[in-house]
Amino acid sequence: MNLSRPEAPMRKLMGPGPLDIHPRVYKALASPVIGHMDPAYLDVIERIGELLKGVFGTKNEVTNAVPGTGTSGMEACIANVLEPGDPVLVCVSGYFGDRLRQMAERQQARVSVIETEWGKPVDPRIVEEMITKHPAKVIALVHAETSTGVLQPMEDIAAIAKRSDAMILLDVVTSLGGIALDLDNLGVDIAYGCSQKCVGSPPGLSPVTFSERAMDVVRTRKTPVSNWYLDIELLSRYWGKEKVYHHTSSSTLNYALLEALLLIHEEGIEARCARHIKNHRALVAGIEGLGLTMLVEPPFRLPTLNTIVIPDGVDDAKLRGYLLDRYNLEIGGGLGALKGRIWRVGLMGYSSSAQNVIFFISALSRALAIQGFTTDLSGGLEAAMAVIDDGQMEKERTLRLVRK
Ligand SMILES: *Cc1c(COP(=O)(O)O)cnc(C)c1O
Repeated sequence: MNLSRPEAPMRKLMGPGPLDIHPRVYKALASPVIGHMDPAYLDVIERIGELLKGVFGTKNEVTNAVPGTGTSGMEACIANVLEPGDPVLVCVSGYFGDRLRQMAERQQARVSVIETEWGKPVDPRIVEEMITKHPAKVIALVHAETSTGVLQPMEDIAAIAKRSDAMILLDVVTSLGGIALDLDNLGVDIAYGCSQKCVGSPPGLSPVTFSERAMDVVRTRKTPVSNWYLDIELLSRYWGKEKVYHHTSSSTLNYALLEALLLIHEEGIEARCARHIKNHRALVAGIEGLGLTMLVEPPFRLPTLNTIVIPDGVDDAKLRGYLLDRYNLEIGGGLGALKGRIWRVGLMGYSSSAQNVIFFISALSRALAIQGFTTDLSGGLEAAMAVIDDGQMEKERTLRLVRK
């Protein structure tokens, strides 16, 4: 057996995550490893906390990144605020909502569930009905459901939570850093994201935030948090002023995360979100121009993760294999109920760019043609480019006609 290290291929990552990483983040990844109690490193952790507050839209003191991927943040949130017997309402409208439900059940909470058809948002009226029948301590749901491409409107559900005195636990894994968040104003008490989606660094860290109200709930638990590693009180003593050793925090990953957060700060949240929306609009125009359809109705489309219906007769695995082989391009397939029915195309962080939209539309059209499915490639490209150039081509053509 050859034991040499194969080079990782240079892919173009346009799936549900991980996504392409900015060269400055790669540079930060080459920082020397330093100790988790080194004053220079503790300063990095503090900066990460400050910058994360801005991205989450919160003033919560307990805001930083737990070790592990997004699922670790999910576990941290669920395990800290739920105790056996606690009533919780979980909204399931896709794969990740279902993961929340499973975790809540493993905490032996009393779980009520609202099941919504995949591809549709949760209906606030049903939340209201359920919470009236079964008052809950926590309403847990997903803001940006990566398995379906739905962005959940939050205003009404937040108002219902406020009226019924329930805390909201929100999965912002696919919105954090790509969609403007204002968790404090919305009244979200507990939330988690991850490092490798719109934030733009490698997988391995999961930003979390806990409000004072949520921390009071944690501090007055009847039973200790079932998960020692993710106990938020212990973690916050390491992140906060006390600097008590908790675990060997990865300086490598945290230096990269700090650089990614600085890139967000320099671009500005508003400009960054506008970029994500524009590239999403270009992609949708391109897809519809090709003659394909999106899964989700326009008002609920998630700009960071686009779900495209696979035309009848097209072999999903073969098409994605072709894109990877010929174009080094990774996109995602469907999960669960949507397996084989949709493609998931991520436009997040550094991957959300005009050139990626144009590249994807072109490669997809060819991959479909190879399977005998013809699309209108020039129509798709024209439509996408019209969004990218803000209709400049049309305007200038009209001007030329007027001058003649
Ligand atoms: C990716 C994702 C997760 C899980 O994150 P991992 O980093 O894969 O552990 C959780 N929720 C949503 C909405 C996601 O998209």
